[in-house]
Amino acid sequence: MRHLNVLISGASVAGPALAYWLHRYGCDVTVVERTPSVRRGGQAVDFKGATHRTVLERMGILDEVRRRQTGGRDQTIVDADGRKLAVIPGEFTGGEIEIRRGDLAELLYERTADHVTYRFADSITSLRETPDGVRVTFEKAAPQTYDIVVGADGIHSNVRRLAFGPERDFVRFGGHYYAIADLGVDGDAVMYNEPGRMAALGGPKAPAFFVFKSDELTYDRYDTGQQKKILLDAYRDGGWRIPELLDRLPEAEEVYLDSISRVEMDRFATGRLVLLGDSAYGNTLGGFGTGLAIVGAYVLAGELMRADGDHRVAFARYEEKLRGYARVAKKGNAGPFLAPPTRLRMRLRNWTFKSSLLLRILLKMTDNFATDIRLELY
Ligand SMILES: Cc1cc2nc3c(=O)[nH]c(=O)nc-3n(C[C@H](O)[C@H](O)[C@H](O)COP(=O)(O)OP(=O)(O)OC[C@H]3O[C@@H](n4cnc5c(N)ncnc54)[C@H](O)[C@@H]3O)c2cc1C
Repeated sequence: MRHLNVLISGASVAGPALAYWLHRYGCDVTVVERTPSVRRGGQAVDFKGATHRTVLERMGILDEVRRRQTGGRDQTIVDADGRKLAVIPGEFTGGEIEIRRGDLAELLYERTADHVTYRFADSITSLRETPDGVRVTFEKAAPQTYDIVVGADGIHSNVRRLAFGPERDFVRFGGHYYAIADLGVDGDAVMYNEPGRMAALGGPKAPAFFVFKSDELTYDRYDTGQQKKILLDAYRDGGWRIPELLDRLPEAEEVYLDSISRVEMDRFATGRLVLLGDSAYGNTLGGFGTGLAIVGAYVLAGELMRADGDHRVAFARYEEKLRGYARVAKKGNAGPFLAPPTRLRMRLRNWTFKSSLLLRILLKMTDNFATDIRLELY
């Protein structure tokens, strides 16, 4: 393939996965990441079905992903007195292989760090397309010109904002917020609901995991103190073990709060700029984001190789393939499912997990979404 000098923004899942393939196809790759290092741990993400498995296998990391997997755990839905109401099977919440997002990011980083330039604690400040490249300025590094620039920087993508316009034009708020925290509470995986709010402990997503219904809030996403205050307000007067959790919250080191939102874009590329993963087709929870990121990286790099580096041809084919596959990200909103708005809806949701037939249908549907693309051998 014609040699390309590529800049990727974001070193989580999509960015390093693309860097892996592009290096294999002979490109020079630089990844710029806002945080000072690859962030470890975080929420658990999952892979499902033959398509995800095949891509991980072709990357040579399937065994290592399996070695680092967390292992899907069943989660018991309880009432305010801790009595069992229903059980969510690990297979449903954790897919086929479940791994912490940060552990996956670390593995992808390890596999690429020798061949790819990683620039941490920096961010793109401007992008200007010229006839033969993209002129990029950074917060810290000196300006440079690249053949193409890829935004793999998540739902709140910086590249999307610079290349396509403000976040409000592309990100739809789903009426709920989630928070993950490490509150130092061990024990079985349990989940508790009150209308419009959910609290879970020891479960598949995080040591403590909260989802609550809310109007859209204005706050600083990097201010942990503000996020703790929002969580305290949202769970005030809660039953079950919520008072104990709220007591622990002020001392918690790791707290992360964000909205449940969906990215809606008609196109993923403009000129020499292209979006990949959550920045293009994210849906916070329940949208197969990690599988989409891995498969999207495989297809984008493969199409660039097939088009001998012609970004116009490659981006058009990537968009065509991913638009169909990523339609799952446009469908669901996990908010009302995890935090049903009424007691009746809570009972109906719990009932889903008591019916083995309904559960089988749900699992089959998710498997169909995860495999709905014809993988080419590039
Ligand atoms: C609570 C929770 C549970 C989830 N569960 C699942 C699940 O079970 N299964 C599943 O498939 N998916 C799940 N997801 C979604 C999954 O985490 C994402 O879809 C996946 O991580 C997408 O990867 P990404 O690389 O596109 O984006 P992200 O993982 O969001 O990474 C974006 C990267 O860009 C960096 N960045 C941001 N701004 C800049 C900037 N200005 N400059 C440079 N870098 C920047 C960020 O620091 C980050 O490293 C879950 C998400 C959440 C929040």
